[in-house]
Amino acid sequence: MMRRRDLLKLLPAAALPARLLAAQQREAARTRGLPPLKITGAKVITTSGGARYQWAFLKVFTSEPGLYGIGSANNVMNPWTVVTALEKHLIPFWTGKDANRIEDLWQASYVRSYWRNASILNVANGALDMALWDIKGKRAGMPLYELLGGKARDAVPLYAHADGRSPEEVAENVRKYMDEGYRHVRAQMGGYGGGGMIPPGQGSRPEGGFAGPAFDEEAYLETIPKLFETLRVKLGRDVKLLHDVHEHLTPAGAVEFAKRMEPYRMFFVEDILPPEQIDHFRRIRQVTSTPMAMGELFTHPLEWNPLIAERLIDFVRCRVSAIGGITPARKLAAVCEAFGCRTAFQEGGDNDPVNQLAAYHVDLSISSFGIQEENHFPQSVHEMLPGTAQLQGGYLYGSDGPGLGIDLDEKLAARYPMAEPGDVSEPWTVVRGMDGSLVRP
Ligand code: MG
Repeated sequence: MMRRRDLLKLLPAAALPARLLAAQQREAARTRGLPPLKITGAKVITTSGGARYQWAFLKVFTSEPGLYGIGSANNVMNPWTVVTALEKHLIPFWTGKDANRIEDLWQASYVRSYWRNASILNVANGALDMALWDIKGKRAGMPLYELLGGKARDAVPLYAHADGRSPEEVAENVRKYMDEGYRHVRAQMGGYGGGGMIPPGQGSRPEGGFAGPAFDEEAYLETIPKLFETLRVKLGRDVKLLHDVHEHLTPAGAVEFAKRMEPYRMFFVEDILPPEQIDHFRRIRQVTSTPMAMGELFTHPLEWNPLIAERLIDFVRCRVSAIGGITPARKLAAVCEAFGCRTAFQEGGDNDPVNQLAAYHVDLSISSFGIQEENHFPQSVHEMLPGTAQLQGGYLYGSDGPGLGIDLDEKLAARYPMAEPGDVSEPWTVVRGMDGSLVRP
C-alpha cells in the first residue's frame, strides 16, 4: 500500500496542499533553492595508506546526488572496534536523518549510547561530525573555516619534532627545523620516555625479571633539563622550545621537573602528569612559571574544564577526533578563550590527513589558538587523499577546496589493506620500570 508521504512525491508542486508548499518554499529560501538533505547511508573505508597506518574513514552519503562527506574514524589502538561501532550501531542510527542538523545529531549520538565520552564512541561520533561539516562546506561551496567565522590568522603555525641520541645531535636537528622556518620545535632525546630509559639488561634488576628498556624517574629528571641547557647555549633564545613528558612522572617528580625546566623559558611542557593525577597541577602552579600543556589523553569535558577554569594549564592539547570532532573542539576553544588558555591540538604520527584538516579549520578560525602539532605524510597518502594539507616553512596550508578540502581515492585505499588484528605483543604505550612494574602513560 502506498503511504501518504510517497503519494505526495508523485504530485506536481501545484497539486501540493498549500501548507506543504509553503514549507518547501521556506526551506528553498533558507537554503538558496537547495532541497532538504537526508543522510542516505555511510560506509567505512579502512586502509594502511601505503605505509603502516591503521586508518578508518567514514564516507557519509546524502540525498543530493554526488554529495558526500568524509570523516576520520581513526583509533590506532583499537581500529576494528571503531569500525564495528560504526557499521553495526551508528550508521543505521544516522541513516535517514537530516544532514543539516550537525549539533542536534552530535547530541543525539552522544546520548544514544547512554554512557558517554568513551574513546571509541568519541571517535565514531567525531567521524560523522567531520563528514557533516564537510558536506555543509561543500554545499555552501566554501572551505569550512569560512563557515566557522572566517580566518582569524593567515595560516596555521606548527611545531616540529626534533630528537637525537645526544644533546648535541638534538641541537643539530632543532637547527634544521629552524632553517626550514619553524619557530617552534619540540625536543626529545631518545623517543618515548627518552632521557629516562635504562638500556635493556642494564642496571640492578630482579632475577629472571623484565629485561627491556626501563623508565627511571631520577634519570629523566637529571637528563632532560641538561638537554635544554645545551639547546639554549647552542641555539640561543630565537627558537620556542617544547618538550613532551608523555605522562611518565609521579606527582612529586612532575613538580620537581617543572621547577628544573623554568630557566630554559619553555613554550610549554606537555603532559607532565597522567590524566588520573591532574589535581597536582595546583602544586605545579604554586612553585613555577613553566607553561603547562595537557590533554592528549583527555576524552571528557570534565577533565579539561576544571584545569582551564582554574587557570592551571596554559595549553590544552586534545586530539580533535578523540574528543568527538569539530563541534566539541569549537566548544573547547570557546572555553579556552574565556579563561586565557590556548589550544595545541594533538597530531600523533598515527594520525590521518582528515583529522589534521579538521584541526586546521578550527585552528584557522578561533581566537584561542596557540599552536598546532606537526604531522606529515608519505607521497602514497597524498595520492590516496588528494587535498591533504601541505607543510611549508613551519606552516600548514589546506587546499582551500570546499568543506574540509580533501577527497579519498577508494581504489588506492583498497590497494593498501589495514592489518587484521592479531598482534598481541605489548605496544609502545606499555612502559615498565626496573622491577617490571608499569609506568602509566
Ligand atoms: Mg604528546
